[in-house]
Amino acid sequence: MTQAVLTLNAGSSSLKVALFPAQGDTPLASGLVDSIGPNGTNRLRRSDGTPLAAAGGDLGTHVGALRTVLGSLRAEWPDLSLLAVGHRVVHGGPKFAAPTLIDDALLAQLEGFAPFAPLHQPHNLAGIRSAREAFAQVPQVACFDTAYHRNHPWVNDAFALPRALYDEGVRRYGFHGLSYEYVSGVLLRDAPQLAEGKVVVAHLGNGASMCAIQAGRSVASTMGFSALDGLPMGTRCGQLDPGVLLYLMDQRQMSAADISDLLYKRSGLLGLSGLSNDMRTLEAAGTPEAAQAIDYFVFRCQREVGAMAAALGGIDALVFCGGIGENSSLIRARICERLAWMGIEIDHARNAQHATVVSSDLARTTVMVVPTNEELVIARAARSAVGLDQLKENT
Ligand code: ADP
Repeated sequence: MTQAVLTLNAGSSSLKVALFPAQGDTPLASGLVDSIGPNGTNRLRRSDGTPLAAAGGDLGTHVGALRTVLGSLRAEWPDLSLLAVGHRVVHGGPKFAAPTLIDDALLAQLEGFAPFAPLHQPHNLAGIRSAREAFAQVPQVACFDTAYHRNHPWVNDAFALPRALYDEGVRRYGFHGLSYEYVSGVLLRDAPQLAEGKVVVAHLGNGASMCAIQAGRSVASTMGFSALDGLPMGTRCGQLDPGVLLYLMDQRQMSAADISDLLYKRSGLLGLSGLSNDMRTLEAAGTPEAAQAIDYFVFRCQREVGAMAAALGGIDALVFCGGIGENSSLIRARICERLAWMGIEIDHARNAQHATVVSSDLARTTVMVVPTNEELVIARAARSAVGLDQLKENT
């Protein structure tokens, strides 16, 4: 029998899927159902890269997509036994600091956090509902992007607003927590001395943030109440003076929906370059606007490394992850260029090779590249929820 756990990350029109064996870090299969709707596509692959036989089925809805995924997996592994399903959930509110088994009461609580993340939480919850419908007997676990940051000191949790708003949940939550948890785990395994120290992790992908981590615990994050704050991103603005919002409302009569569209979908690298949200395209473009978009991204990253180091009172390591952090030697080198005062000195040959350690041997601060793996963090949580990790320890 093929015993496995499934991880799901449901977006507005996509479903990211990975099937992990009961033990081990390599998924049996992973991929994406994209463009859920009339033009849905099923792009699931085995770990060796071969496409899974696409099962016929309805890709018009999330539940249809899930059933189709299950059809593909069962065609490949007819003896598949699903032990647990782990879900990525963007928001666990002020309360949830760890993965949590899903039941009706939890779902109702998570619905209550939807106003904090209106563009993401409803889709995550739709994914959970679909999975509960498709695999009614299988335990399901919610893994929160906010959970890793829940023990921030109060000064990094609050805004300087009247306290009633804090009590209502207007706080600096921080996101990308599954990625930071993964990177922390790798450091603990491979560089335990650094893991004990002061580490700034830069998750630079389409979404981008940094996290200040001390002895494995998040102390501060560049993202705050929403996934808009901090670094500029593919299409999101990053840090913004709230006065700009007042101006847009007062002088441009923009509604909340207009502003949301502007800040989430039309800003960041796309807005600045007028060309693309994709760093590869900008690196290749050679237009003055693309160059300025990159300059802005690099400058804000440099500032925030400084801010995160200040939150920690020092820095022992800077770790890059995410699509840009893992793959762009140019952006890594440019960010590090002006950080020599923090003991950061990159070794260009190592950086060009995307080595694990890309700093020079004499540098006071270690710079590393650690490919992140949020799916594995979810799979481990799903295993743990059904006692599979204890099974491993006992045998
Ligand atoms: P998401 O946040 O959606 O998971 P990723 O972590 O996959 O996104 O990051 C996507 C970003 O990574 C894009 O801006 C893409 O251009 C960038 N990227 C991927 N590979 C490279 C590369 N070789 N050079 C520069 N940027 C890259």
